[in-house]
Amino acid sequence: MIHVNRTAKPDILSKNEVAWNKTLADNRAEAINEAAPNHQQALRNYKNAQKHYSDPPIKDALMLMFGVSVIESKCAYCETSVFSGEKRVNPGKLSVDSNDEAQIEHFYPEDPKGVYWDKVLDWNNLLIVCPPCNQKKSNHFPLDVQGQPLWIDPTSQDPLQHFVYKVLPNTWEVEILCISAQGKYVRRTLDLSNRSGLKKSRDQVIKRCFALARIYSLTKEAEWIDALKDECDPKKPFSAFAKAIYDWIQQAMMANLSRSTQ
Ligand SMILES: [Zn+2]
Repeated sequence: MIHVNRTAKPDILSKNEVAWNKTLADNRAEAINEAAPNHQQALRNYKNAQKHYSDPPIKDALMLMFGVSVIESKCAYCETSVFSGEKRVNPGKLSVDSNDEAQIEHFYPEDPKGVYWDKVLDWNNLLIVCPPCNQKKSNHFPLDVQGQPLWIDPTSQDPLQHFVYKVLPNTWEVEILCISAQGKYVRRTLDLSNRSGLKKSRDQVIKRCFALARIYSLTKEAEWIDALKDECDPKKPFSAFAKAIYDWIQQAMMANLSRSTQ
């Protein structure tokens, strides 16, 4: 997980969120009460207003926030690419087709009967995630004794306050160490260390980054370290791991340099 800057709220949300939230507030009491006389109509009104979080311009804006382009987005939590198949863009539109696996995640859970129903259309509460992370997080959202979420939002927090990425050059691995209660809870809930599909795609990126670092250390040619630096872009898959390898090789090169000048 790596910090990603939250981009500006999409226009469609700025223009409509007050009206949509009013519909939610006006209909919520009857929508969650099956005995209410207008329950069915209120439920329809409520769901129609609620589902606007997935309007294509909002999803596109989230995809761009977590990707170098709208068709190259990644999961906010595990950093895996949210595409498994062919990348296609709908003709004449920015929206990607249904081949993408990106799902819109509510940091504060979406459950209409829960306490966070008024955050369902809140731009600061929306993220893009992969299906496994969405399923594993589900409505798991404990609070600490101060009432703060025991979960990590990479757009409002720095995940490096919770995780350390330990480079293991002999085995070409990067280990995730947790340094906070949030880190431990999130790593365990999402199975970040050992989830098989995730680990396989992450290992490919890690091996490529190690290879770039090794070639740079041998050749001292800038193009190799520049290529590794490109992988550290927070919008690229597994960039937290690429950044750890980049920092490691830079420190190793500096240590060699200082030894050779002594
Ligand atoms: Zn994920």
